[in-house]
Amino acid sequence: MSEPLFQRVALIGIGLIGSSLARVMAREKLAGEIVISTRSEATLKRAEEIGLGDRYYLDAGKAVEGADLVIACVPVGASEAIARQIAPHLKTGAIVTDVGSVKNAVIKAFKPHMPEGVHFVAGHPIAGTEYSGPDAGFASLFESRWCVLTPDEDADEQAVAKLRTFWERCGSNVEIMNSQHHDLVLAVVSHLPHIIAYNIVGTADDLETVTKSEVIKYSASGFRDFTRLAASDPTMWRDVCLNNKEAILEMLSRFSEDLSALQRAIRWGDGDALYSLFTRTRGIRRDLIDAGQESPEPNFGRQNSQGEPAQ
Ligand code: NAP
Repeated sequence: MSEPLFQRVALIGIGLIGSSLARVMAREKLAGEIVISTRSEATLKRAEEIGLGDRYYLDAGKAVEGADLVIACVPVGASEAIARQIAPHLKTGAIVTDVGSVKNAVIKAFKPHMPEGVHFVAGHPIAGTEYSGPDAGFASLFESRWCVLTPDEDADEQAVAKLRTFWERCGSNVEIMNSQHHDLVLAVVSHLPHIIAYNIVGTADDLETVTKSEVIKYSASGFRDFTRLAASDPTMWRDVCLNNKEAILEMLSRFSEDLSALQRAIRWGDGDALYSLFTRTRGIRRDLIDAGQESPEPNFGRQNSQGEPAQ
């Protein structure tokens, strides 16, 4: 039998992302041993019941002892506390990484605490769902999805190469990017859409002239598609907003300007401007489908309970 890629992997945090990693690592035999740590007894017990790892600890420091790879799978705002907790227990030569949706702030939180001889390489799998916790994960989550690694200029090349291999074996396509650029790109493609969704769903909920039952009843007309994003984990998204503040504010001001232009086109009956924008955006969806990032099925391939295409 071939050697696993890492002898011992420690997962700190075992929610959607951590438990998906545990599952794919077991399936692909990427780790000789999987050690799991999380802060609450309830989550740790659940991870053990599902059988996600080989050993289980509430103490993150204990969990990383002797690990060749440590992956922090916690909300971005918990990064510094985790870095402090694990630092004295890390083995020389260990690779430490994370999966956080923001990179600059995570690097600032981790790097100062990493001991000499430990290689920190930040990472972000662009894959997820609106569900949380150890039951939400699945082994194919990362399949054909991008994983962005944002190593510093002084990062150890072998550690970066090994982490790239790890994510490729998890099914991902790997891209190396500067952390600042990552945060700007993600502000456009992920953070802004989530903020817009949280806002629109909140607005609909606040409207007094439209009843809640009407919002739910007629949701298939577009609203429903925003609710998936707006159902995402509140802790995770609070931390993303607080830790990618500048890029998000920059994108929000661009968004507000474009929204004002759209508002103006509607007010002045500028059909050409509306038609031209809507044609351009329709093309973007076609590009997503061509790139294999979205299903060509009508309505995202949704089916009703009879297995027929849903409205
Ligand atoms: P999740 O399902 O909510 O799981 C979070 C895990 O972190 C749990 O084990 C939780 O422990 C632990 N945790 C929460 N707050 C903590 C704190 N203050 N200190 C220490 N541990 C804490 O979250 P997730 O969706 O896997 O997200 C984890 C990371 O992946 C986040 O940084 C997120 O930005 C990133 N990410 C998420 C997605 C997505 O779509 N969800 C996609 C890509 C990247 P307990 O349950 O024991 O409290």
